[in-house]
Amino acid sequence: MPPELASADVPTRDLTRERSDCLACGGSGGRILLTAGDVAAEQRWLERFHAARRAPARDGDADGDDAKDRASFTQSETCSVVACVACGTVLRVPRPSPDEVAETYAEDEYGRETLDALAENQDAFFAAKLDALAPQLSALGRGARVLEIGSFVGGFLRAAGERGWRALGVDVGEETARYVRARGFDVRCGDVLELDLEPGFAAVFIWSTFDQLGAPAAVLDRVRALLAPGGLLVLRVPNGRFETACLALRQRAPSTRRLHRVLCAQAYDNFVSFPYLTGYTPESLSDLLEAHGFACTHVRGDTILRLADAQTRPFAVREEERVKRVVRRACRAAERATGLLFDPWLDVIARSA
Ligand SMILES: [Zn+2]
Repeated sequence: MPPELASADVPTRDLTRERSDCLACGGSGGRILLTAGDVAAEQRWLERFHAARRAPARDGDADGDDAKDRASFTQSETCSVVACVACGTVLRVPRPSPDEVAETYAEDEYGRETLDALAENQDAFFAAKLDALAPQLSALGRGARVLEIGSFVGGFLRAAGERGWRALGVDVGEETARYVRARGFDVRCGDVLELDLEPGFAAVFIWSTFDQLGAPAAVLDRVRALLAPGGLLVLRVPNGRFETACLALRQRAPSTRRLHRVLCAQAYDNFVSFPYLTGYTPESLSDLLEAHGFACTHVRGDTILRLADAQTRPFAVREEERVKRVVRRACRAAERATGLLFDPWLDVIARSA
């Protein structure tokens, strides 16, 4: 059992009865981390947190519209959050069916102004991210055919194009697919399990999307079939261990102030109310990849891309930078002490065996 789950006498749920078996290991026991009431309370806290950090909307602006992806997440239905007793993966239960998840994303609506703001942030993020991962991705030369599942506003497709890769995006969102096409990038709208795609990709990228898949095993098998032999799979996922560690710290917090600091750390990495279907740990994800014919070659911890934008109050811009610095420092200290990665986000590279 992972060390952060070692405490006994905690309520558990039968995941099989709720058709929500662990997506990483198939385990059927869930230790309750957040009840449905806790999740709702965290969502209310998060709305207040972000509202206090935004400048008032200018005349004619749709107030609060661009808070999407900050406080109003796609996964906002009533549910609890549990940790798989067997592998430590954090899960939302009950889990919507894969079709329900796809439908939610297909109907997601953002509006032009929000998409532009998201694209600006994502363009900067992916340019820096591909620079940072350049040594691990050196096998991808100019002209390499790469696929991105969940291409969203096109930030990765742009950065990939700048490296001379021939990048194709796939996204279930109709509005985002239209938007990305208008930006001049190649994107197919639909589910990667159903689209007719030509195999032989040198790499497949799934950024901040794998954790929202209701059928990750089927997607991994599909990715393997689409990859050339020895091709790379690059994933970015929220780390379930960060959630369990933060909740443990909150439980032991000696003061309200300390409790608020942990919540703040969670908020700036989008963990408040745990808005993901799955929070793999580095180990549970590595095991899952291995079971589907991949060998994990690189796992690195990270924080989420910058949340601040033009409407963020100056104090909150500084607060975000400070909080993320503290989180990174704490994660390094925890790693030195335990040998485990606690960082809120994980960049994972695996090779098709
Ligand atoms: Zn599990």
